[in-house]
Amino acid sequence: TGTLYIVATPIGNLEDITFRAVRILKEVDLIAAEDTRHTRKLLTHFGISKPLTSYFDHNKHIKGEAILARLLGGSSVALVSDAGTPCIADPGYQLVRDAISRTIPVVPVPGASAAVAALSAAGLPTDSFTFIGFLPNRQAKRREQLCSLKTEERVLIFYEAPNRLMATLDDIKEVMGERDLVVARELTKIHEEFARGATSDVIGCFSGRQVKGEVVILVAPSKEDESQKRATESLAEVLKQYLYS
Ligand code: SAM
Repeated sequence: TGTLYIVATPIGNLEDITFRAVRILKEVDLIAAEDTRHTRKLLTHFGISKPLTSYFDHNKHIKGEAILARLLGGSSVALVSDAGTPCIADPGYQLVRDAISRTIPVVPVPGASAAVAALSAAGLPTDSFTFIGFLPNRQAKRREQLCSLKTEERVLIFYEAPNRLMATLDDIKEVMGERDLVVARELTKIHEEFARGATSDVIGCFSGRQVKGEVVILVAPSKEDESQKRATESLAEVLKQYLYS
């Protein structure tokens, strides 16, 4: 059987593709892409000319079977998405599962991902974090999910569309209160911007502006929860010493 490569592509700046990704894209028999026209431009930039097939959420069942048949027949296939790492808030998970269940080797070719790029320069705690991806579009559902994340002790990472940024920031403030928050916009592109501060400051930074481009929102855990946790821990420590002395 052939190998299924999960190949990360840039999230903006074309220099962010790896040497290995370019080599794999040149070597495989077939490239499965979310949007073949978009990927064609990337391939042309790197002088790669390869057969392309589309693989996106709405055709994943039919296309998935055809791609698996090619792999079982001995062809190697690279899966790419429009930007960043496939399967991360992008199609691919089902194909990876199905390949594994048919004992087809699945090999990651790592590279850019907006969540990790944003976290690395946000200036928020990085030791552990929770990637949420996209929140629901409908406000009631969005607030419900934010409410369920209110006491999360790790940094939360959300993907969001620019036209929903303000609505989501308002909901974060409403449901979670003031937090240390960062909006990372247009990462690796000309207009890259980090808006850092308390929730209200970041809202102020974007209000009255038509927000363009792609955004990642990062939210630090509530300081109240943290200080409450520390107080409980030190109380437990005092009690332990008292009980065992
Ligand atoms: N698979 C991609 C990855 O690994 O990051 C994510 C794809 S998801 C469909 C697209 C979302 O990723 C955007 O709505 C935005 O939240 C985020 N994103 C992608 N590129 C970005 C960039 N250059 N700057 C900021 N956010 C970006």
